[in-house]
Amino acid sequence: MKLWLPQEQSLASQSPIIQKTPDLDSHDNVYALAFGAHPDDVELSCGATLLKIMDEGHRVAVCDLTSGEMGTLGTPETRRLEALHAQQVMGYSAREILDLGDSELFYTQENLHKIIRIIRKHRPVTVFCNPPEERHPDHMKASRLVYDACFYAGLRRIETMLDGEPQQPHRPQHLLYYIQFRQPEPDIIVDISSTFERSRQGIMAFGSQFYKQDRKEEPVTMINRREFLTGLEARAHALGELIGAQYGEGFKLSGNLAVRDFTCVFTRPTPPRQ
Ligand SMILES: [Zn+2]
Repeated sequence: MKLWLPQEQSLASQSPIIQKTPDLDSHDNVYALAFGAHPDDVELSCGATLLKIMDEGHRVAVCDLTSGEMGTLGTPETRRLEALHAQQVMGYSAREILDLGDSELFYTQENLHKIIRIIRKHRPVTVFCNPPEERHPDHMKASRLVYDACFYAGLRRIETMLDGEPQQPHRPQHLLYYIQFRQPEPDIIVDISSTFERSRQGIMAFGSQFYKQDRKEEPVTMINRREFLTGLEARAHALGELIGAQYGEGFKLSGNLAVRDFTCVFTRPTPPRQ
């Protein structure tokens, strides 16, 4: 399997900390924490997979690194309300909005520590984030920040506080890069046939960003073109075809995928579609 980052950079392979099974009954712990540089990145790129995780009985939280205030369409307040609406529609346990600065998402210790604080607060097993090679510079910056924060969050000598209390170290087991503008070959494809339609409702919560018949006079952006959402569906359909499913969502892995329960990964084939 071709890796997105060299094996020696895998979070799991470098972890000096023995991970304990998260206590899912504890208030803030989640199975998956999905980061996005902008408020709609998560829903557009991995929303159906997050719904699938929740359907399997796990908690999911989302963290927007910025409010998307430099976007061509929508105001910061509109985008914040849309993000919270998407949270309700999707059913996330929490949605954090960090406001690190749209188009000013710089690699600083302060920004890194804010992300570490979110990771230690929610203590996810799996993290999703923007891919490292992308068209939008914010996506690449977010990817680097989140990768590094996942690693450093496991170092006990990096101290962070939450509500006046020191936080315990925590390193996520897995980091998956979702696919955005560029189209790399995915390492894994998730069958999202059961959640694809619902995921569209999460996307449409960000109504200010997409094409509407009565807003033809608005400036054209990459995602408010009339063809954008049909293109997104076509991509999900094409990825689904590769695994014999109706729809699929692809991901790059940040390290090797360890197979601990063989038959959970290599399941019986689903019956061929008629
Ligand atoms: Zn974005």
